[in-house]
Amino acid sequence: MSGPTDGAARDAGRGADWEMVIGLEVHCELRTATKLFCGCPNSFGDEPNVNVCPVCLGLPGSLPVLNKQAVEFALRIGAALHSLAQSSIFHRKNYFYPDMPKDFQISQYDVPINAGGWLELPSGKRIGIVRAHIEEDTGKTTHVGGGGRIHDAGYSLVDYNRAGVPLVEIVSEPDISSAEEAREYVEELRAILVATGASDGKMEEGSLRVDCNVSVKPLGSEELGTRCEIKNMNSLRSLGRAIAYEAARQAEVLSAGGRVTQETRHWDEAEGRTHSMRSKEEAFDYRYFPEPDLVTLAPSKEWVESVKANLGTMPAQLRRRVADAAGVPASSEAVSTVVRLGLEGLVGAAVDAKADAGLALRRLANEVAGELGDGGGHNLGREAFAHLVLMEQRGELTSAQARSVLKIMVAEGGQPEEVASRLGFKALGAGALEAVVEEVVAANPREWERYAGGDDKLTGFFIGKIKAATGGNADLKAASELLRSRRGAS
Ligand code: ADP
Ligand code: MG
Ligand code: ZN
Repeated sequence: MSGPTDGAARDAGRGADWEMVIGLEVHCELRTATKLFCGCPNSFGDEPNVNVCPVCLGLPGSLPVLNKQAVEFALRIGAALHSLAQSSIFHRKNYFYPDMPKDFQISQYDVPINAGGWLELPSGKRIGIVRAHIEEDTGKTTHVGGGGRIHDAGYSLVDYNRAGVPLVEIVSEPDISSAEEAREYVEELRAILVATGASDGKMEEGSLRVDCNVSVKPLGSEELGTRCEIKNMNSLRSLGRAIAYEAARQAEVLSAGGRVTQETRHWDEAEGRTHSMRSKEEAFDYRYFPEPDLVTLAPSKEWVESVKANLGTMPAQLRRRVADAAGVPASSEAVSTVVRLGLEGLVGAAVDAKADAGLALRRLANEVAGELGDGGGHNLGREAFAHLVLMEQRGELTSAQARSVLKIMVAEGGQPEEVASRLGFKALGAGALEAVVEEVVAANPREWERYAGGDDKLTGFFIGKIKAATGGNADLKAASELLRSRRGAS
């Protein structure tokens, strides 16, 4: 069928409105020095098949030894997600595919190390976590020729460097209700994973991989619809597009009286659509059974407690701190922007200098964020930034001037006074501004009479004159206050 290419599910359905239900499975590679069950280096981008040994190649007679650092990272992730750390076991998940030399993957099945939990989005909405378990990664196949997919390839190459790299898979409850929210969830999860030190969070290097379960149901219905699992999204953008496409496709099928088949679908980035990969009937039977070569993983109470005690500050806590300092809700966009860009320390600098933290937050979320773009650095010193905020709030710089100074400080660093004088901004103290107001009033007596008589339309006229007389250096808010109080007195 020819599916719609974009748009929300409700746009596709005729007669009924549809609601999306989304649950995500995120695989996160852990930043350990070595692999999960052997001493081979865990490193990305090396020559193919250099980081291998009998254990990760699955040679007969080799035995796995669990990496303690991987367990530590898994516990940190669990603690950050408010999960329950429990005594857990490993299972063999059996299937044949050339990227898995053992023909089984060691994973956790019904008793994962982290059970339950939740994550809080910047909006304040909580998304439930089902589990966050440990497993090993597979190798990597490259299909050469054709479109890069197995069925039209001339031949395939396999690299086992990644085979046995430790992963934590984080499975969400189906609590996500839009493509945008799915992206927010992944961004928040990524920030948490990076904050725990467990992951570098690089989606482009595959250290964070997202599978997505999507279903639709009639608006307001309690019952969940049949879901499809989508694979192969390599960026947040593709994730959003894939969900929008898939939900619209399902809504269209259901609106036409059809049924959605539970299946795995492949996202085709170039075509902007999902394709059926395999249906549940042809799905693998993994024949899970407990891994006989590994004992129960039972982290001690002391270990779990010390992981919790030493967990760094998570993004949701940072947002709450910034919000409290600035006197705004934690869900406000400025707060999440500032925390996402790692600028919260500068709000702290403003607080330390007794500057207006709300003003500092606005300048960071607007001007500084605007200058930074994605992942860019800045040259703002803590004290220099706090001082700039003080200069603006004292009226020593107008807000337009403060913004210009700030942009230069972001790019080049420096002190606000020095940058301001380089730009030719003269501080217009209160006295100087009053003199200008008097001048302008004296030069325009008729207009003043009308304004003084209550004609507010002339405010703009006077502000324009004051702006011109000061070469744009006046604090216009202060100027209009002066005008108002002069009118009150006359
Ligand atoms: P499986 O064992 O097939 O992987 P799970 O029950 O573990 O299935 O669920 C996998 C993911 O699918 C979870 O993230 C879950 O939230 C999500 N999910 C389950 N049911 C639905 C549904 N009806 N619609 C959307 N997502 C769902
Ligand atoms: Mg699953
Ligand atoms: Zn190895």
